[in-house]
Amino acid sequence: MTTSIPKITIPADLLPNDGRFGCGPSKVRPEAVAALASAGLDYLGTSHRQEPVKLMVSRLRNGLAELFALPDGYEIMLGNGGSTVFWDIATFGLIDRRSQHLTFGEFSSKFAQAAAATPFLDDPVVIKSEPGTHPEAIPDSAIDVYAFTHNETSTGVAMPLVRPAGTSADESLVLVDATSAAGGLRFDAAQTDVYYFAPQKCFASDGGLWLAAVSPAAIERIQRIGASGRWIPESLNLVTALDNSRKDQTYNTPALATVFLAVQQVEWFNDNGGLHWAASRCDRSAEIIYSWAEASSYATPFVTDEAKRSHVVATIDLDDSIDANTVSAVLRANGVVDTDSYRKLGRNQIRVALFPAIDPEDVAALTKCVDHVVAQLS
Ligand SMILES: *Cc1c(COP(=O)(O)O)cnc(C)c1O
Repeated sequence: MTTSIPKITIPADLLPNDGRFGCGPSKVRPEAVAALASAGLDYLGTSHRQEPVKLMVSRLRNGLAELFALPDGYEIMLGNGGSTVFWDIATFGLIDRRSQHLTFGEFSSKFAQAAAATPFLDDPVVIKSEPGTHPEAIPDSAIDVYAFTHNETSTGVAMPLVRPAGTSADESLVLVDATSAAGGLRFDAAQTDVYYFAPQKCFASDGGLWLAAVSPAAIERIQRIGASGRWIPESLNLVTALDNSRKDQTYNTPALATVFLAVQQVEWFNDNGGLHWAASRCDRSAEIIYSWAEASSYATPFVTDEAKRSHVVATIDLDDSIDANTVSAVLRANGVVDTDSYRKLGRNQIRVALFPAIDPEDVAALTKCVDHVVAQLS
């Protein structure tokens, strides 16, 4: 399928100011890059066991606690490896015997697979729904971890975070993969026990780090499993991560630039009005792109139920007469990048990040660019 890309030049007055629309790594604000460049000589290349870096980690932990309005006793933990490694960490240190997974796309499926492959756990219960929808949890006394995904990045579906009816954190923990949602979607932390993510999406930083807001019940679980005699590799051990996080450190060396850029974004949110402000930017971008698609003769929101349509990742189907891969390739040739659909979903669609760093005006400009390209192609 190596068709050549049609030579279409998008007029400069239609182009967005910033052409980065990828779902991760995603747009890093130029102001944050400039701040890194100017602070870099004192900060980059210095020990992560000394004050300047520990202070940066503490700004990140405190800033996130403020942003999420964490209830008393909740803490921010961090470690190396990103969200994918956190799934393995959770199989070692958070699932007691049996987990229940809501799977509705690529990312939510992967945690379920990790749990199923873990020899010392019982087979997980997997509740699956079609791409473009999300399943509902089924309360079950045999379950000690419910695994949710706040935003399924592969399909553009967001789900509300509510503890399964009749369950309590004393018996079952709610673990939420919030990798593409954290910082862009509203939620009530009290409905979650472990809200984990990596900072290359709404936090406009780079990958390789995991962060988690953990409840007192989750901390108790971590300590109980840690003391149970279960073999846990040290780099995946949450007791070790908790000890280090409380000292504003990580077990092994973190990427200092990643920590710095995440702090820039968290403080940008908090200085401007917090999560409500950040989520409102995403709401505005979502309104722009979905109303454009609804009105378009050739574009349709993939997620039919408006309530499930993500405000951080939009998936837009194109009419079969227009090849979405060609549209994305022409956009890329014009400096508007990463609008490609999630390949394994296999749909004729574009996927657009609506993260807070992305200017809603740029989302509006993107829709005009797509209209221009489609008009030229037909
Ligand atoms: C991007 C993403 C991941 C993977 O994150 P890594 O840091 O690359 O491991 C996991 N879950 C969701 C929902 C994501 O969007």
